[in-house]
Amino acid sequence: MPAELDHLEFYRLPWNYADNGISWLEPTTDCNLRCEGCYRDPHGHGHKTLEDVRADLEVFKKLRKSDCMSIAGGDPLVYPQIVELVKMINEMGWKPVINTNGLALKEPLLKELKKAGVFGFTFHIDTSQKRPKVTATTETELNELRLHYAKMLAQEGGIACSFNATISDKTMHEIPNMVRWSEKYADIVHTMVFILYRSPNLTGDFDFFANGNKIEFDGTYKETNWGGEQMLMAPDIVEKIREGDPMYEPCAYLNGTANPNSLKWLLANRIVLNKETLGYVSPKFMELVQTLTHMFTGKYLAYAQPKSVSKGKLASFFAGFVDKEMRRIFSKIMRRTIANPINLFRSAYIQSFMIIQPVNFESDGRQDMCDSCPDITVHDGKLVWSCRLEEMNNYGAFVQTIPKRA
Ligand code: SF4
Repeated sequence: MPAELDHLEFYRLPWNYADNGISWLEPTTDCNLRCEGCYRDPHGHGHKTLEDVRADLEVFKKLRKSDCMSIAGGDPLVYPQIVELVKMINEMGWKPVINTNGLALKEPLLKELKKAGVFGFTFHIDTSQKRPKVTATTETELNELRLHYAKMLAQEGGIACSFNATISDKTMHEIPNMVRWSEKYADIVHTMVFILYRSPNLTGDFDFFANGNKIEFDGTYKETNWGGEQMLMAPDIVEKIREGDPMYEPCAYLNGTANPNSLKWLLANRIVLNKETLGYVSPKFMELVQTLTHMFTGKYLAYAQPKSVSKGKLASFFAGFVDKEMRRIFSKIMRRTIANPINLFRSAYIQSFMIIQPVNFESDGRQDMCDSCPDITVHDGKLVWSCRLEEMNNYGAFVQTIPKRA
């Protein structure tokens, strides 16, 4: 049974269309891998010029505030001017975060990117990819590869490390192992993101229309054997995370555009001391973080500095003045320290879990998108959902879904 979750118990992230934690930039459609569930056509337009990418950034500057700029694609590390681009994003006032499969990341390039001001990496690693020279066939076996990248960043120091995995009904049974693995490495693995696999043919009985014409819609979200047959929802993943960590408790969310109670982005942050989870931060704590950050920086927080996420003790101490749950976590830290004084010198890490539930369809044909889409990108000078950019490329409009007549 999927977990029962009441969105009203969580903090609704204050991110919105014009003032968000994240924006999404695609300098290239080229990629050196192929992942199931990828939103982007691998035979797309290739690399944009640096000037065209700058023009996209100017559109963001004019239309929307955000804390970080996700650099995606395609794989941005195959973009020939990635170092210059990172520098440009940094100078324009965003935290550059590279979303990559990691294949092209070697130490000399990492050093150059760090010098250019890269803030973090989000590595997309999962079993839907056929990686050269990688024999792992399960998500659990892939934890070794995840660890390789986490250690690589940790050695360089000061770079945020996140992992994305697309999850289908064929792989969700491995989530508990991923949750337990990440607890062991909370010092160097800052965020785990689970993105639910989507294919239009999972949704049942719809006809697809673009510009008033009926179309065969099979281009963007490919239906595959790997993707399974079930349309997963956030509560399915919550149940699996709880198998790996029974304490798991979300704190914040983004709702859907059709359903106020759908959990399109669901955030949880746990505090881990000496590889042991002591609790999950409360909705009030997240509200404090977002409000104070916006008050002092003018932006909502998406990614925290690695040195800030190692301040779980301080965070629970101060937030404990206004919140019972944070007080409880702090008193556990104290008890662990009394039992083992070495813990006095250990950091308590704040590690995040994000569940992303892309589009789902109402029986009346309405499409439930992420309200306040953080991964919005620029197309022809306008902001569009990056997960559905190919619809704009192919039809010049978003596809509409109409229930089939009986
Ligand atoms: S609407 Fe699409 S692009 Fe935007 S956050 Fe949701 S899945 Fe990502």
